[in-house]
Amino acid sequence: MVRVGVIGGGQLARMMIPPAVNLGIDIRVLAEADGMAAQLAASQVGDYRDAETVLAFAENVDVITFDHEHVPQEILRQLVDRGVRVHPGPDALLYAQDKLLMRQKLTDLGLPVPTWARVRTEDELQTFLDDNGGRAVLKTPRGGYDGKGVRVVSAGHEASDWFAAVAETGANDGLLVEELVEFRRELAQLAARRPSGELVFWPVVESVQRDGVCAEVIAPAPGSAGRVADVAAGIAGQLASGLGITGVFAVELFETTDDRLLVNELAMRPHNSGHWTQDGSTTSQFEQHLRAVLDLPLGATGTREPHTVMVNILGGPSEGALADRYADAMAMHPTVKIHNYGKDPRPGRKVGHVNASGTELDDVVYQARAAAAFFQD
Ligand code: ADP
Repeated sequence: MVRVGVIGGGQLARMMIPPAVNLGIDIRVLAEADGMAAQLAASQVGDYRDAETVLAFAENVDVITFDHEHVPQEILRQLVDRGVRVHPGPDALLYAQDKLLMRQKLTDLGLPVPTWARVRTEDELQTFLDDNGGRAVLKTPRGGYDGKGVRVVSAGHEASDWFAAVAETGANDGLLVEELVEFRRELAQLAARRPSGELVFWPVVESVQRDGVCAEVIAPAPGSAGRVADVAAGIAGQLASGLGITGVFAVELFETTDDRLLVNELAMRPHNSGHWTQDGSTTSQFEQHLRAVLDLPLGATGTREPHTVMVNILGGPSEGALADRYADAMAMHPTVKIHNYGKDPRPGRKVGHVNASGTELDDVVYQARAAAAFFQD
């Protein structure tokens, strides 16, 4: 039986387990102590930053993949040197680990990105602000997620704490500053690539963010058929070959008020913007990721219904568990699919999501939002 090792035991690894079971793939997880995937799959608790732990874990599997992008480069390279199949590989993952390297690489590839600069001091930041309309978005290059590590600034001194923190690291690689993009909406292009080159795209989706966190996804993005879909897929295709990405990946895009698509971020793994595929596409992103990292032929990426809407359950109920609300939610919304990550409710935490599909977008949006509302108060 083929064996896939997933480093990181979060909800993404957890959602790879059902398709692995269906395909008879033995999935092993190297998890954090509280990793949710550990409840469902053969797992080992260990630190992904410890080379010995990761190398030992890799000895018993056919391919290594990830549910996050944080395994240190030195460890990834040691794996490759030992002949372990690692997807995505270290050369590709490097760019997902550092937003400054990513911006530089995207610029080198000629892809459309917001105006950006690397800044190491408050004065450099102030100069960028003066040249770019007085407001900008400042980002820590590493370790940010869900809007943490992203700040809108209008004066150099507003970032003194972050400059002090990066200076302390010794390397002082600086911070990423970008123009504050005027966008109409945010889009995401999900795609998958096999090591042998096959590349497929799902329809481009609209992702609605609240407080820097993905709240909803509408698939396909309304009005995207034609130009928007073609441009988004073209960008993802260039990225996949330019960076040598393997596995599922997602490109987050801004659709600007003057009709351009700019690349915001790249995630080299299954992504929140692709959770709709579990119920709304012929092939879910989690099954596709397994197929891709094993270099198996990729599944069809079409939609099962004209519209699918995913709504995240953020925080969860103030009392009790998600499952305590199943009876009411299921009775009221029998067409909706509920995905529960098995996490304890906590304000702002992604504890699950729901998917609704159908032919009328208004109704699908209503079903998904109303069902999700049962699980948060
Ligand atoms: P994270 O790594 O935390 O997901 P992102 O870089 O994706 O951070 O930024 C989070 C959100 O902040 C984006 O989804 C978008 O809503 C907003 N944002 C990020 N960069 C810009 C920008 N240059 N202009 C306008 N809004 C931005």
